[in-house]
Amino acid sequence: MAQEDVFKKVVSHCKEYGFVFPSSDIYDGLGAVYDYGQNGVELKNNIKQYWWQSMVLMHENIVGIDSCIFMHPTIWKASGHVDAFNDPLIDNKDSKKRYRADVLIEDQIAKYDEKIDKEVAKAKKRFGDAFNEEQYRSTSPRVLEETKKRDDLHARFQKAMNDNDLEGLRQIIIDEGIVCPISGTRNWTEVRQFNLMFKTEMGSTADGASTIYLRPETAQGIFVNYLNVQKTGRMKIPFGIAQIGKAFRNEIVARQFIFRMREFEQMEMQFFIKPGTELDWFAKWKATRMAWHQNLGFGSENYRFHDHDKLAHYANAATDIEFKMPFGFKEVEGIHSRTNFDLGQHEKFSGKSIKYFDPDLNESYTPYVIETSIGVDRMFLSIMCHSYQEEQLENGETRVVLRLPAALAPIKLAVFPLTKKDGLPEKAREIIDELKFHFNCQYEEKDTIGKRYRRQDAIGTPYCVTVDHQTLEDNTVTLRYRDTMEQKRVNICDLCGMIENEVTITSLLKKLK
Ligand code: ATP
Repeated sequence: MAQEDVFKKVVSHCKEYGFVFPSSDIYDGLGAVYDYGQNGVELKNNIKQYWWQSMVLMHENIVGIDSCIFMHPTIWKASGHVDAFNDPLIDNKDSKKRYRADVLIEDQIAKYDEKIDKEVAKAKKRFGDAFNEEQYRSTSPRVLEETKKRDDLHARFQKAMNDNDLEGLRQIIIDEGIVCPISGTRNWTEVRQFNLMFKTEMGSTADGASTIYLRPETAQGIFVNYLNVQKTGRMKIPFGIAQIGKAFRNEIVARQFIFRMREFEQMEMQFFIKPGTELDWFAKWKATRMAWHQNLGFGSENYRFHDHDKLAHYANAATDIEFKMPFGFKEVEGIHSRTNFDLGQHEKFSGKSIKYFDPDLNESYTPYVIETSIGVDRMFLSIMCHSYQEEQLENGETRVVLRLPAALAPIKLAVFPLTKKDGLPEKAREIIDELKFHFNCQYEEKDTIGKRYRRQDAIGTPYCVTVDHQTLEDNTVTLRYRDTMEQKRVNICDLCGMIENEVTITSLLKKLK
């Protein structure tokens, strides 16, 4: 199946099976805002739990907080968001569509990469086992030519971004002949900066209402609480504070379903460290976070690091963890070495000292910070895209199966009475009444067993149990596995033990080592 088709199918599957709905659906939706349905919310909560527990339970020196969306407006002045949280935008005059200039250029760089990779793949096929990829990449004239074009473009782009050179960005778009995907023309406007923060007012105008912002990231709530937590929790550096919460960005170009939303959720952890140790901790957190992703079993070839071309005003090192979505490798998580920028700024703007007294060194300093920041919704999308599969069965039928990691699946076990009579429904309910304290179960009695299996496959339920007449005699049921479709006769009293170990977040955490 073509990758674009996979994406389209995932989007409609999300709606059809109660994972994600457009917000305000009966009013024709609201741009780039989405609601999670009955299955989506379960999957989302499981992702959040997997993250939260891997941070807070697995690390003695990481604790959580839950700070508010509304914060003192000076916080956003101090953090630099009021002045610098901008995207460079460009419009196509013919289609009247708006794009992020940096994204257009990044896509162009990705096209060169694809071309080079295709050349290499072709040669690999031609030469077979004797193929030496490194040698080919460094000697093939075609590959060298494309690599040079790519590297030159990359260097020009990096310079324009770092110099905030909007005209330079536009010139790159013109020189590369980048066209609007809708109109196909090169009729571009100037590039302009656009601030992404939403504003609202607090208090009535009579009282002198003040402008406040909906937070564009959860991190600042951690920075301004850092000393409260450090003191009350008697935390010693190095230590971390984790938080999950909503963030808001007035994204102008938001066309990829839940990949880029205006209201979304972040899971952020700020790790406070001694100045000078930041690059070591940066490397450690890169490895820890990559292991967390790969632990889901989607294959290491689907992940890569992408170091930032333009460092944000606060960072001295930054990388993204990218996942191979149907529309290419895309950022799911950012890991940033934020120096002491944020804490230093809050000290300056609040006029209060927030230095840490280090008892080992007998001196005070402003800690440095490593941040790991992941979007719940992007993680959700990557999991859906990877898990969605259409399988050809031996009998010629196709089945849609969501191969979710069992620990993340919304429903863990579905229980079906074979028929609606003879006491089978009551027996099925008895099983659920026992198991519902351990994991999420669902009762289904409508349609044939085959159809019920298909419905559960489509929402990723790893186990189904069928109660039949034999169950009433010997307390055994048919246990059916989602992935293999294998069926086994098992005793009801063994079900909990067989399933529970496979479906809890703990089972995932244990694999993390
Ligand atoms: P992008 O370059 O894609 O705009 P970003 O680099 O601005 O993302 P960060 O500020 O580093 O993103 O935010 C951390 C994480 O929050 C991202 O890795 C992503 O998973 C998530 N995120 C950021 N913006 C959005 C959005 N508009 N919708 C959904 N998730 C988002």
